[in-house]
Amino acid sequence: METFDYVIIGAGSAGSVLANRLGEDPANRICVLEAGGTDWHPYIHLPAGFIKTFHMKSVNWAYQQEPGPWTGGRSIYAPRGKTLGGSSSINGHIYNRGQRQDFDTWAQLGNRGWGYPDVLPYFKRLERRVGEGDETYRGRDGSLTVTTMEWNDPLCEAFMEGAVSLGIPRNPDYNGAIQEGVSYCQRTIENGLRMSAAKAFLHPARKRGNVDVRTHAHVTNIIFEGKRAVGARYLKGGKGGTPVEVRAGKEVILSGGSYNSPQVLQLSGVGSPELLGSLGIEVRHALPGVGEGLQDHYAPRSVARVKNIRTINELRRGLSLWVEALKWATTRRGLLSLSPTMVYCFWHSGETTESSDLQLTFTPASYKEGVQGQLEDEPGMTVASWQQRPESRGYVRLRSADPFAPPIIQTNYLVDELDRRVVVAGMKLARRLLQSAPLAPYYAYEDFPGPKVQSDDEFLGAATERGTTTFHPGCTCRMGPADSTWAVVDDQLRVHGLQGLRVIDASVMPRMISANLNASTLMIADKASDLIRGKSAPEAARLAG
Ligand SMILES: Cc1cc2nc3c(=O)[nH]c(=O)nc-3n(C[C@H](O)[C@H](O)[C@H](O)COP(=O)(O)OP(=O)(O)OC[C@H]3O[C@@H](n4cnc5c(N)ncnc54)[C@H](O)[C@@H]3O)c2cc1C
Repeated sequence: METFDYVIIGAGSAGSVLANRLGEDPANRICVLEAGGTDWHPYIHLPAGFIKTFHMKSVNWAYQQEPGPWTGGRSIYAPRGKTLGGSSSINGHIYNRGQRQDFDTWAQLGNRGWGYPDVLPYFKRLERRVGEGDETYRGRDGSLTVTTMEWNDPLCEAFMEGAVSLGIPRNPDYNGAIQEGVSYCQRTIENGLRMSAAKAFLHPARKRGNVDVRTHAHVTNIIFEGKRAVGARYLKGGKGGTPVEVRAGKEVILSGGSYNSPQVLQLSGVGSPELLGSLGIEVRHALPGVGEGLQDHYAPRSVARVKNIRTINELRRGLSLWVEALKWATTRRGLLSLSPTMVYCFWHSGETTESSDLQLTFTPASYKEGVQGQLEDEPGMTVASWQQRPESRGYVRLRSADPFAPPIIQTNYLVDELDRRVVVAGMKLARRLLQSAPLAPYYAYEDFPGPKVQSDDEFLGAATERGTTTFHPGCTCRMGPADSTWAVVDDQLRVHGLQGLRVIDASVMPRMISANLNASTLMIADKASDLIRGKSAPEAARLAG
């Protein structure tokens, strides 16, 4: 059996950062096992390729969630990256960190060193911010390029003016001191190409020679000796492939993401004894929190038909598309360099709400059935709205002992009454924004939820009929104290009760944050790399207030 110092399972956002940082020490030998293939496909790198990779099974796990009590019997599609860079190779490129209180809450839950002043230096260390930004909050020397959308679209401008007319201020940097306000989005895109975690961190790490990245290496289980993780078993070539075992002299690091990390733990006998017993899996270590606590953002997408101007729906067809392709080839700008959302708006659902609990996005385009991935033919504009910090929690559980069977994903969207209330408030605000005076020259009529929807119950009905995921699953291997009933890892991200095993990815978030998850997942991995190497943390940020 081959032996490395570290075996990293999953070459996604977190796995890529870890391979890079651990590989900085030339004495370390690292093996990265990735179930998907390489990230060669041009649709990964072309920002507008998002719409293609959204359903492309060669780079996407393409999961289906279970119908929930508030999804109108619908099973909601859940894409996840299955290639180098993981979900950062198919995501919507948005760079959004969240609010100070998100991380302070993590610390208050008993996780030392995870408050905002502690994690801010890591956000800064990772990024190369191009453009606006106060140096207290923004980094300029990291590997992850963060740029601001440079497409000045009259509809986007009118939307932002509409927000201002409703009292929502323009905010030059929602990743700075204050999140609240409206602005063009910040993106992990450089020179018209996606800046995935693989591009920023994994590919440079591979060049050093001490990082061995194995693709089409589907990990079936972690290998234990007693309570110590000593390696991983994978099938070379995926299903039906040759079994291979690799050994980790120092640690096994599980970075499979919020759906697959709990799945691999459960397959390895770590989890709820009842669940494992029901599937005939021998219990290696009872840890009932594994897979429990899943959270995600749930977004209904409000749509208005557009007049007097062309939207992306028309630009992506016929001659216009050829013009745009030429523009991208010569200037790296235009339609093909766009992200699926262009304007970000953060606001609060009530006057007394402590900090913005609503996130709204604007796109001068509309999608079939409100699902990103298929543009409509008629001109349209979309405002997606969601509650930033939902209370509802679900789970990820094995469906069977077969490592290739998709896990059961039940997010339980909207089961908590607060979530229903805030989602309704978000849809009402979306309507006011679409009907604002600055958008009036372009606003034809509301297509969804439609003018018949007026009462809170009707808005809620519409939300359950058409809401979808925003692709932000987290919290399935939560970080917390050993004496809690729910925690899977401690604040060093070591699995409680086991040795030689950490989970490091979006699953360790103890609570959902007010943001898309890529930036904070990268931050978690960067901080974890210091914890693993025993390096002292950068000095905590000194912030007013
Ligand atoms: C369509 C989409 C749009 C999104 N848009 C945004 C956005 O605009 N902004 C943002 O901030 N966030 C966005 N996100 C979310 C963000 O990209 C993820 O939260 C983040 O990438 C998660 O990182 P991770 O390391 O936890 O998991 P991932 O990046 O998903 O990495 C997990 C890796 O582990 C591999 N793996 C899993 N199981 C196994 C196994 N058994 N054996 C070997 N390998 C395995 C996977 O193939 C994958 O490569 C989006 C996500 C999606 C899917």
